[in-house]
Amino acid sequence: MRATVLHAPGDVRVEEIDDPRIIEPTDAVIRLTAACVCGSDLWPYRGAEPVDGPMPMGHEYVGVVEEVGSEVATVKPGQFVVGSFVASDGTCEICRSGYPSSCVHRVFMSQVGTQSERARIPWADGTLVATPGVPDSDLIPSLLAASDVLGTGWFGAVAAQAGPSRTVAVVGDGAVGLLGVLAARRLGAERVVIFSRHETRQRLAREFGATDIVTERGDEGVAALKELTGGLGAHSVIEAVGTQQSMQQAIRSTRPGGHIGFVGVSHDVSLNGQELFFSQVHLHGGPAPVRRFLPELIDLIWQRKIDPGRVFDLTLPLDQAAEAYRAMDERRAIKALLTP
Ligand SMILES: [Zn+2]
Repeated sequence: MRATVLHAPGDVRVEEIDDPRIIEPTDAVIRLTAACVCGSDLWPYRGAEPVDGPMPMGHEYVGVVEEVGSEVATVKPGQFVVGSFVASDGTCEICRSGYPSSCVHRVFMSQVGTQSERARIPWADGTLVATPGVPDSDLIPSLLAASDVLGTGWFGAVAAQAGPSRTVAVVGDGAVGLLGVLAARRLGAERVVIFSRHETRQRLAREFGATDIVTERGDEGVAALKELTGGLGAHSVIEAVGTQQSMQQAIRSTRPGGHIGFVGVSHDVSLNGQELFFSQVHLHGGPAPVRRFLPELIDLIWQRKIDPGRVFDLTLPLDQAAEAYRAMDERRAIKALLTP
């Protein structure tokens, strides 16, 4: 089958690799209907994470089950499924407590690769959720978004305790930040402020429910946010970038007693202990437990109550994956969808 492989920073190719097959009795093999490039795929692409030899790429996926192992009970061949970017058994104590992305048996799908024609999904019962039927084609981008960026933005909003009568600030205007806006509004937030200086992203943020846009960043951004919130800062802040600057901006934007949901994959972030101590904020984050939210998110999409697929502003055939990476790296595209 054809699959996307990163050979070195900046060198991504689509090439023939072996077809996936059932290895464990808990596996499924799916045929991808759509895949996409994630902001986190850009870290190794840009050389900010090591590339040790050829690396299969991709961890977001929707598709049709082709084959299941002998122990798989909840999905069957022919069903359309959405899964999380982390495979999880669904039965361990961590999964049952709502944190399947830290399952004791977790497998990051980025180790498997899903920017391909097919993929092996470990722990199919714990990982995959079947949709009520075969989706209309216009629902596919939104279902694909649920696999990671929507689920991650949603977790950011939940972790930040976004809700009625609260002001939520979102640091980061990539797909996760934009969907954090959508999530915060769905969860009832009164006011949603996004930090963004990019016009098309601002527009989409408004459509997803942002009430205010702050174009300054860093401490100037914090000052502008404080001006909007009576000098106090936001109740809830979603951090969706993962850099030192964004994390610092998130902490400084949060009022004492407030909550931060940090879902940008952290790179070279070190926090000042004393500043953290006196900030008096709650910090909760990490790889989003997307599987926890999938049934609810699929239902909202199926009923056409949310349209998170709008973050995809570029669609290319799988063979042009290299161009999809370039477009996202150069910020010409918010998020690129690949059709195998
Ligand atoms: Zn588990």
